[in-house]
Amino acid sequence: MKPKHGQLLYQGKAKRIFQSDFDDQVLVEFKNDATAFNALKHQEFEDKGRINCQISAHLFEMLESQGVPNHYLSLAADCWMVVERVRIIPLEVVIRNIATGSLCRETPIKQGDELLPPLLDFYYKDDQMGDPLLSEARLEKLELLSEKDRLEIERIAFRVNLLLQSFFEKLDLTLVDFKLEFGINNQGQILLADEISPDTCRIWDKRIRDSKERILDKDRFRQDLGGVINAYGEVLKRIQGVSSTPRICS
Ligand code: 5GP
Repeated sequence: MKPKHGQLLYQGKAKRIFQSDFDDQVLVEFKNDATAFNALKHQEFEDKGRINCQISAHLFEMLESQGVPNHYLSLAADCWMVVERVRIIPLEVVIRNIATGSLCRETPIKQGDELLPPLLDFYYKDDQMGDPLLSEARLEKLELLSEKDRLEIERIAFRVNLLLQSFFEKLDLTLVDFKLEFGINNQGQILLADEISPDTCRIWDKRIRDSKERILDKDRFRQDLGGVINAYGEVLKRIQGVSSTPRICS
């Protein structure tokens, strides 16, 4: 079912943002498209939009219950949610608990090494530039946010990591790493935005030892492992097993 919406405001790789009836709210549609390697690889997966929307709604509600300010307001339909309008800060904030992915391609840090304390990196969100990793000096030079806001984002991101880690732990899932995006609302408040799903997190199944079989996230698509939707569905199923249905807008 498609909720009533206004004009298209933004078309992303995995989501579309539409105007809603209210100035300070927008509607997010989660698409079935999956992209990797800066959109060089693209495929559609039936039901991916719904699964990621539902997972994100559950996780945003869990974080909200723990006092983490985020843009989520309610679900509007299977693959649609209502969120607070924010100005997205063009940064990707990546937290890593276990070394893999670009960290191991770009440094001598060994695959599978535990990262304690976790690593937090800022990347500049720009597809054409390939989302480059930023040094502290470059981040400061870009003047995208004040020092105070940067510290606030780091504080929220580390707290999200702790909350997600302990939530996933109970589901026999390992949170390997993830990417967050932040925005600023009309009141100037920093809010966690975008989505939290197997598209943006690496999640391993603790019940499986095999290093490929245990992958329950977009790496299944990136590495052509197959079973993408089964894996995403397994994450949703385990979350639904411990939390109540996300609220639906009236
Ligand atoms: P890596 O830097 O190893 O490629 O990614 C680290 C983590 O951030 C992974 O969980 C990955 O899914 C997420 N991530 C980093 N950049 C992006 C991005 O541009 N889009 C999405 N969906 N996830 C990203």
